[in-house]
Amino acid sequence: MAIACFAAFGAKEKLREFSYQEPPQLGAFDVLIEISHCGICHSDIHLIDNDWHISTYPLVPGHEIVGIIARIGQAVVDRKIGQRVGVGWQAGSCMRCEWCLRGEEHLCDDSAAVAVGHYGGFADKVVVDSRFTFPLPDRLDSAKAAPLLCGGVTVYSPIRRLMKATDKVGVIGIGGLGHLALQCARAFGCEVTAFSHDPDKEKAAKRLGADYFVSSTDKKKLATLRRRFDFLLTTVNIKLDWQVYLEMLRPNGRLIVVGAVNEPLEIPAGAIISGQKGVIASVIGSRHLIQEMLEFASHYHIASEVEVVALRDVNAAIAKVRKGQARYRMVLEV
Ligand SMILES: [Zn+2]
Ligand SMILES: [Zn+2]
Repeated sequence: MAIACFAAFGAKEKLREFSYQEPPQLGAFDVLIEISHCGICHSDIHLIDNDWHISTYPLVPGHEIVGIIARIGQAVVDRKIGQRVGVGWQAGSCMRCEWCLRGEEHLCDDSAAVAVGHYGGFADKVVVDSRFTFPLPDRLDSAKAAPLLCGGVTVYSPIRRLMKATDKVGVIGIGGLGHLALQCARAFGCEVTAFSHDPDKEKAAKRLGADYFVSSTDKKKLATLRRRFDFLLTTVNIKLDWQVYLEMLRPNGRLIVVGAVNEPLEIPAGAIISGQKGVIASVIGSRHLIQEMLEFASHYHIASEVEVVALRDVNAAIAKVRKGQARYRMVLEV
C-alpha cells in the first residue's frame, strides 16, 4: 500500500504530491496511523526552507498529527488498533542516556524528529514509534487538538515548569504559539498581558485569557511597563528590541525564548546584570509533559483556534502561514 503525501523537493519550493510504500512489516515498537488532521507549525516552514540546514528532500513536513492507529508492531502493548492518538515534533530517542532515563527524552542527543529524515504528517498515513504517540482525551476535538502536540507543549512546558499563580506574565506575539500561551498562563492563574503589533488582535487576546493588551509598537506605553513582569514569553520569529523588553522584567525576571528567530539575539550584558535577569529558552517537552498538557487542555478547555483546510490545498495554507494570516493555526484535514 502506498502512503499519499505532499513533499518539498527543494528549499523554499512549493509542495507537490508524493507517495512512498507502507512498510510490509512494522518495526517492533512502531504504529501506523491513519491521519485525520495535521497542524502547520512555523517549524514546518523552517524545514521546507532548510533554514536550520537539517532538511533532507523529498521532505514531507507535518508534526502536529492526530489520527487513528491502524496497525501495530509486535512489541506494542500499550496502544491499540482504533485508538486516537497525537504525534508531535519528536519521533524517537535513544531511551538509554542520562536525559532519557530522567524522563527528559526531548533533550536526548539522539532525538529523532518526525519530519527530519523521516516522512511527516502532511499525508494520509504515518509510521512512528508508538512510544512517541499520545492518546487524546475524549473531550478534545481532533482538529483543535492537533496544534497542541507541538505548539501547545512548547508554551505549556515553560509555564508549567517555571511559573506560579502569582506571577505577572507577558506573552509576546499572538499567533499560533501565543494564543495557546495566553490560555495556558491564564489557566495557571497568572496575570497575563498580551503584546502584539496588530491592534486587531486585542479582542481575541482578551477572549483567550489576556488581562491586558499592549500594542508592541506603542513605545510610550512600553516605557511605562518598566519592572512589571516576572516572565516574558516570546513566541515571535522576528527580531525585536530585546533591551526594551528586558527593562520590563522585575528583578530575577526571565525572558523565555520559544519563537525560533533566525537573527541572533543581541543583548548587552548590562541589560541582564542589572536586576540579575535571565534569558532562557525552552524546547517542546518530555513525553510525560505532553500527556499531562493534553489532560490539562481537556480539563481547562484549552484548544487551538484553527482554520481547517483540505490536505490538497496545503500550498495555499502554507502561504497564509508565511504571511502571518493564520487565525491562529492552519490545520490540514485528510
Ligand atoms: Zn512545531
Ligand atoms: Zn537518550
